[in-house]
Amino acid sequence: MISSPSLPLETPTPAHICPFDQACSYLDQAGKELKLEAGLLEILSNPRKVVTVSIPIKRDNGDIQVLAGHRVQHCDILGPYKGGIRYHPAVSLREVSALAMLMTWKCALVGIPYGGAKGGIAINPKTYSVGELERISRRYISELIKDIGPEVDIPAPDMGTSAREMAWMMDTYSVNMGHAVPGVVTGKPISVGGSRGREMATGRGVMITVREALADRGQSLKDAKIAIQGFGNVGGAAAFLLHQAGAKIIAVSTGSGGVYSELGLDIPALLTYAKENRRNLVGFPEAKPISNPDLLALPCDVLIPAALENQITDENVDRIKADIIAEAANGPVTLQADQTLTARGVTILPDILANAGGVVVSYLEWVQGLSFLFWDEQRVNQEMEELMVRAYREVIAQSKQRKIPLRLAAYVLGVGRVAQALRDRGLYP
Ligand code: NAD
Repeated sequence: MISSPSLPLETPTPAHICPFDQACSYLDQAGKELKLEAGLLEILSNPRKVVTVSIPIKRDNGDIQVLAGHRVQHCDILGPYKGGIRYHPAVSLREVSALAMLMTWKCALVGIPYGGAKGGIAINPKTYSVGELERISRRYISELIKDIGPEVDIPAPDMGTSAREMAWMMDTYSVNMGHAVPGVVTGKPISVGGSRGREMATGRGVMITVREALADRGQSLKDAKIAIQGFGNVGGAAAFLLHQAGAKIIAVSTGSGGVYSELGLDIPALLTYAKENRRNLVGFPEAKPISNPDLLALPCDVLIPAALENQITDENVDRIKADIIAEAANGPVTLQADQTLTARGVTILPDILANAGGVVVSYLEWVQGLSFLFWDEQRVNQEMEELMVRAYREVIAQSKQRKIPLRLAAYVLGVGRVAQALRDRGLYP
């Protein structure tokens, strides 16, 4: 096992569900499969740069609050650092470091020229006004001004952030530079250089990988029974596109509970209902309420955890009845639960593949920005489709060739490409 890097152990998370330890464990397994030297693994397991900044903000009631904002840059061997910014109460340096590492393998896996990074602030955005969130976002980026940039590190949305926060961040960076710098973030509104198709991109990538996995089992999306945990950027878009393709979405949930209908939910109507009811789903007509634990245990063809990490653990793994789990969220299945499910023959589409659609379209947004060209949505979706299907096929081929599960196959591809680049650049003997 790779020695744990020198990150402050500020979270009391038990080792078996600590996201960073889990990420290192998967790296370790890929390293063994690829027969990588211990020294090389040691390099790859440590983030290159870890930044924590203080964000003092004035609350609307006049109080001053100082928040901690993190940015972890894991590896830039293949290109500029790339990764989302998360606003969620559970954000910790270890979690951000794990997510930064996943971004490195994800970008390498889908073949885009980026390294991996992640950022986050431990806040519940629902308890802040829009004005407060704007002050937080602007101050966070001001504090990181020397660490980011279109050729250095390019943030994007993640949990709790969206195009709105990206526009504030792009503006703050641009004001500091003295000219507009749209390439500093992706996932921006179209009015400031965002790409068509970006908003739905992660959900679309989930839909593509699920469609391919079902096809490999001789099934189609039409009438496939699917349950989705999380109804935000990713879960909402995945639900919409899967429903549009004919799948029966039998349940979806948010942090405050979910709704279930054996006949399938009317997803466009549910999206409107959620918008009108402050994202609450419970009460939606012609559906029964369902708790998050019960949603995860529903009999279905595909279960899509699209909310948080560590949702399928040792404690509930025996209740899981899905044939396929598509990890739309990052790290929703713990290491031990992953082993149990794999032994049971459940197909797990790993996060670094299933949710890569977002970073693929972020890359396409960056490419459009650099070339001062703006494509229509059809072109964006087509380019993304090709990259996602290619990555999916490569993972399947690697899995068959090495007789290893899909997650390990995806890691072998991602880690292997970064290790090769490290050697080719002469950075490892
Ligand atoms: P979001 O904030 O838009 O949505 C999160 C959803 O999860 C919300 O519906 C929320 O109510 C729900 N949720 C929160 N806590 C929950 C709980 N305890 N139980 C059930 N549901 C809960 O976030 P998002 O951008 O959709 O991100 C979701 C996941 O996808 C994260 O793991 C993120 O890292 C990953 N991801 C996002 C992107 C992206 O482009 N946004 C890209 C790749 C991966």
